[in-house]
Amino acid sequence: MIEQEKLCGTAGLHGLVYKRWKGLQKLRNLLGDDNIQFKNYGGYELFKPEQQDLAEECVSKLSHFNALIEDIVLQKNVYTETNNKISSFGLNGINVLLENKLEAQIDPGLMMKALMAKSKALDIEIYNNCRVDELIEEDNNVALITDQGRFTCKKVLLTNNAFVNDLLPDLAVTPGRGQVVVTKPIPNLKIKGTFHYDKGYYYFRNIDDRVLLGGGRNLDFNAEQTTQFGETELIQNALHQLLKEVILPETVFEIAHKWSGIMAFGPRLAPIIEEVKPNIFCAVRCNGMGIAIGSHTGEEAGEMVLKSL
Ligand SMILES: Cc1cc2nc3c(=O)[nH]c(=O)nc-3n(C[C@H](O)[C@H](O)[C@H](O)COP(=O)(O)OP(=O)(O)OC[C@H]3O[C@@H](n4cnc5c(N)ncnc54)[C@H](O)[C@@H]3O)c2cc1C
Repeated sequence: MIEQEKLCGTAGLHGLVYKRWKGLQKLRNLLGDDNIQFKNYGGYELFKPEQQDLAEECVSKLSHFNALIEDIVLQKNVYTETNNKISSFGLNGINVLLENKLEAQIDPGLMMKALMAKSKALDIEIYNNCRVDELIEEDNNVALITDQGRFTCKKVLLTNNAFVNDLLPDLAVTPGRGQVVVTKPIPNLKIKGTFHYDKGYYYFRNIDDRVLLGGGRNLDFNAEQTTQFGETELIQNALHQLLKEVILPETVFEIAHKWSGIMAFGPRLAPIIEEVKPNIFCAVRCNGMGIAIGSHTGEEAGEMVLKSL
């Protein structure tokens, strides 16, 4: 929040929180909490003793941010200092813990499944694994050249996010890869909720009795500014070290899965929702907040295309 306020000012941050809160409510209303396993376990920000200055800066801002979001979430004191929970989560080497009682977690796999079921019920066809290689502007149409053949349509809305420059070069979109690991089940796992560390560059949560941990992009921004999926030794080691030293200090654990995902960032925190060329629109660059603002972005983009018909 502090970093975002520097980028877009206090009014801009208020608008952004409003979009995230309303976007999440739209998503929950659209699909239903049970269908996406929405769980309001709370969110936490961790600080080590050597981050004392940052911790103090964050603590000093709690009342400012509580006041800023009160008229959006209609609750007081959403952010609090909760150092007494550090030991119950079993965290090591952490001396300050801030809590956001409204932060929640969902299962994004179930979210996609529910979205596809909803689309199917509306008779919307989805072609998975169909790569668009080229867009060709014709008189009143656009042709899509894909690895499964040529499609012609009146309007195209591109939502390929970090990959948009493959089809529409020169948009202000920069990719950012996130590497993720998940442990095997851990008996009596102590952490429950979503946790952030190092200004949000690391994120971890429980998935039932496993730990999911991702992040570390800030260790090598240049290497992670890529649309190539994959892992690097530097970041995998940092994730492993964080698990071993801070999150699961007294527990033997094994990594069950690893993967990476590509986000889209840019100079402004707002997504790009516009008609880029005649009949070619885009809705991209959710700046790593697409779960929160994606439903809203999708609705705005859909209305833009409908108005142009
Ligand atoms: C590790 C990680 C953690 C995240 N955590 C959070 C979080 O906690 N909260 C939050 O709000 N957001 C989070 N995000 C961000 C969120 O996942 C994205 O903002 C969101 O997925 C963006 O949705 P989208 O539909 O715009 O694009 P994407 O989900 O990126 O989808 C783009 C799609 O386009 C397809 N595509 C690309 N090129 C082509 C082509 N040429 N032809 C056809 N298809 C193509 C891709 O295969 C992909 O399916 C996270 C992202 C990552 C990677």
